[in-house]
Amino acid sequence: MNGTKYTHEELVARARERANEENLHSFQVERRRLYLVKSRKLRPGTYHMVRVHRSGQVTCDCPGWERWTVCAHQQTVVKRLEREAARREWYREQYLQADLPSEEPERDDTDHLRAA
Ligand SMILES: [Zn+2]
Repeated sequence: MNGTKYTHEELVARARERANEENLHSFQVERRRLYLVKSRKLRPGTYHMVRVHRSGQVTCDCPGWERWTVCAHQQTVVKRLEREAARREWYREQYLQADLPSEEPERDDTDHLRAA
């Protein structure tokens, strides 16, 4: 640490880059609630626990998150949630275009996931 101050946005961007570079993957324990992400740098071979809270906040149990409230594991899960939300949106579009009864492919309980 060199004491440089980063904005929250810069920290998020760096964490996302790191998630890509380190090719991090999330494992779902509880859908849209709890995920595990393998640690590549801090404790190789172990997993970090990433939780999705009702408020929409996504937290990790690693020291990086404790310090910055942003980390690559957390962003790995945030990206996954964004991807899944986009897919649900795509399915909804298909349903609307097909003029089918307003039936969703899966229950949509994303209200609590709105960005903080
Ligand atoms: Zn973390």
